[in-house]
Amino acid sequence: SRREKNIRPLLQERLPDTHFRLLELAGRLGDRLDVPVYAVGGFVRDILLGRPNLDLDVVVEGDGIAFARALADELGGRMRAHHKFKTAVVIFPAWESERQRGDNGIPDAAPPALPVAGDASNEATAEAAHRAAERPEQRIDVATARPEYYEYPAALPTVELSSIKMDLYRRDFTINAQAVQLNGAHFGRLVDFFGAQRDMKDKVIRVLHSLSFVEDPTRILRAIRFEKRYDFRIGAQCERLIKNALQLGMMDRLSGARLFHELKLIFDEKAPLPCIRRMEDYDILRLIHPLLKLNPAKMDVLTELERVLHWYRLLYLSPAPEPWMLYLLGLCGNGKYLDVAAVTDRLAFSRKVRQDFLTLRENVREVYNLLNLWMQRDGSMSGLNNLLSPIAPEGILYLMARAKTEDARKHISYYLTRLRGETPDITGNDLLAMGISAGPAYGRVLRRVLAAKLDGLARTRAAQLDLAHELLREETAREALAAEVGPGG
Ligand code: ATP
Repeated sequence: SRREKNIRPLLQERLPDTHFRLLELAGRLGDRLDVPVYAVGGFVRDILLGRPNLDLDVVVEGDGIAFARALADELGGRMRAHHKFKTAVVIFPAWESERQRGDNGIPDAAPPALPVAGDASNEATAEAAHRAAERPEQRIDVATARPEYYEYPAALPTVELSSIKMDLYRRDFTINAQAVQLNGAHFGRLVDFFGAQRDMKDKVIRVLHSLSFVEDPTRILRAIRFEKRYDFRIGAQCERLIKNALQLGMMDRLSGARLFHELKLIFDEKAPLPCIRRMEDYDILRLIHPLLKLNPAKMDVLTELERVLHWYRLLYLSPAPEPWMLYLLGLCGNGKYLDVAAVTDRLAFSRKVRQDFLTLRENVREVYNLLNLWMQRDGSMSGLNNLLSPIAPEGILYLMARAKTEDARKHISYYLTRLRGETPDITGNDLLAMGISAGPAYGRVLRRVLAAKLDGLARTRAAQLDLAHELLREETAREALAAEVGPGG
């Protein structure tokens, strides 16, 4: 009795033409191989919500790997199969849009040229370069839906369930459990077995069955993430199921790696703060580790962190910071070293990441105090540079967010936007030309030349060459003295 809905017009209107044609191609391929093919999951959800998501997930009712192989051939790409799960990923040169490639109908795989370094590049070209660098390859995930690959949930009759329905039933929320058929005759047919259409209309996050969160507690964090991203509401029944799963201690059953992965996804959201607040509502932060519990002071810091991160991104400054590092620094607040270490253990950080994070936190705390001293006693740009240059960008942004005064914040922003990229206008070759052989003195001299440049004491290359001469004389004198005094003297 369900009314069939076809979203072909929506696909055509909301997708780039390249992606629309890709869907048609996949559907024709399904026809040729005589298998039903669907686009599924987040891709469908985001089309319907009007925020196209170009990550294409395809499910084939049949041999997904054979389909992926044929698709890779068709697209001039390659594929990687996971035979155990009957899944594959197809990787191929991204198609350029109609407008870019002229109209000979042959997609051109070459990525657009990057702007030449040193041209009058403004933010727009920087952004274009940034996008182009990410675009040259495109991927499609292909999965196999076949009844024999599913463990039948006890509650379900084992008969009369199509494979696609079984596939969708394993998913987290109704809005993520929709499919669009791609085969020619059915192209655009929306497949919604679980009432997703109504939930989208009501803006509700709803699970497919009552054991969902017990089965996979990461869904608790996913529910929060989707609720905040789409401005939906976790439904009343769904909320009861979350609280129930938490009460059963399901957070403790979650592996550190999966927990960290989901937290990272939250911190990668445009606005992680509402998610963090919602986690606190459910007491999830404390359940992960008591140190992470929110308080008003932390909330203020997190708010500043979000602002500072936004500012940094707007300026396209590089390197791109890892948001999780920033937010986790904020959530750890003034915690003790051992507690922070315990958090890194709960999240199963690798040795390297653990070390990097703990070191960053220690460095940041030290520099925080030194920065105040620098403001009172020094104030030189070279001093600022010396303080901040050893710190990873996440640490610097954290310092900026926690700056005590507007003045301190301005200095840090000046460091990020101006000082950080500065180099001396002379190089090792200039020193070589002065007749000094390469050695540790080079680094010392160049650092002091840079310091003088930053402090405005040697602005021009000529002035820097003069200074280098002087410093090299000093170095030579020191070496001569050392030789005279002799080893051990
Ligand atoms: P995003 O926009 O964050 O990428 P997405 O829905 O595309 O969202 P993926 O993590 O790529 O997210 O997942 C793709 C699909 O796989 C989801 O739409 C959902 O149907 C299913 N899925 C992902 N994670 C789970 C899970 N933990 N439990 C059940 N289904 C899941």
